[in-house]
Amino acid sequence: MKPVNFAYERPRHLDEAIGLLGDESAQTKILAGGQSLGPMLNLRLVQPDLVIDITALEHLKRAEKMQDSLVLGACVTHADIEDGRVPDVTNGAMRAVAAGIAYRAVRNRGTLGGSLTNADPSADWVSALAALGAEAVVRGPGGTRNVAVDNFVTGALENALGFDELLEAVRVPAHSSSAQWGYYKVSRKTGEYAHAIGAVLFDRPRGVFRAVIGAVERKPLVLADARVLFGGSTNFAQFDSRAADAMLQSIGMRDALDRQIHTVALARAVRQASGA
Ligand SMILES: Cc1cc2nc3c(=O)[nH]c(=O)nc-3n(C[C@H](O)[C@H](O)[C@H](O)COP(=O)(O)OP(=O)(O)OC[C@H]3O[C@@H](n4cnc5c(N)ncnc54)[C@H](O)[C@@H]3O)c2cc1C
Repeated sequence: MKPVNFAYERPRHLDEAIGLLGDESAQTKILAGGQSLGPMLNLRLVQPDLVIDITALEHLKRAEKMQDSLVLGACVTHADIEDGRVPDVTNGAMRAVAAGIAYRAVRNRGTLGGSLTNADPSADWVSALAALGAEAVVRGPGGTRNVAVDNFVTGALENALGFDELLEAVRVPAHSSSAQWGYYKVSRKTGEYAHAIGAVLFDRPRGVFRAVIGAVERKPLVLADARVLFGGSTNFAQFDSRAADAMLQSIGMRDALDRQIHTVALARAVRQASGA
């Protein structure tokens, strides 16, 4: 199948792109890496009047290291992160996640912002950025607003963007040198979307004890205080798989095997974080 006819714009300035989004009556789609939008257009799952190609916006490819965080423009690619072409404040955590996404051709084009905005529950950044405590920097006609990634992804393929907004960047808090991170993805073959994701970040000097169970057919299950999974302690050896199972039941995951696979993904992330 081929896409429906649509108008195409490739603005050079961010304000121009925002201006183009302003017409609520027109079906408008933003094009970044095109790795998800391309197939959706070809299958006519989306039938836009206008496609706004944001790949000429240099501002969206920037990487800015602050004292306590890193701001990555929405059009930074998975390969930029994997190859270390942008700085890292996560002791290599983001590089490892990027390297596990799809295969190289997809990573060359697929973007951090496209992946997060697409909000596929099985996508890596949706879970990984939530576990890292990252924020989405949203740009609209009135300026920017920051939204925690946990709140930016509102459901399966749903996000908190208004019709006249785009994702400008992602702000990732810097890890302390002793931060403990684990990320485990279950997929049938290398390069496939996840069937289950477990992610853990314990950064004791910053008082961060986060865990995420992802690929759960909705927004990821985020535990901002994951000590509840460790009998109230911060001891990885106390990991209580029954507590994780109960949480999965509470969000409606009925299939016991599915819950087991997700719990094992989390347990393996915990083991990675513990360095065992
Ligand atoms: C074969 C294959 C295997 C894959 N495997 C994996 C995998 O294992 N793990 C994984 O995480 N991902 C996987 N992906 C997805 C891929 O990593 C891309 O990141 C993802 O498809 C979207 O990124 P994109 O830049 O291509 O966005 P696009 O396809 O250009 O856009 C996706 C959606 O986001 C919107 N959008 C894009 N950028 C913005 C923005 N800045 N502001 C507002 N809206 C925006 C678009 O309008 C569209 O709705 C796979 C893709 C393919 C084709």
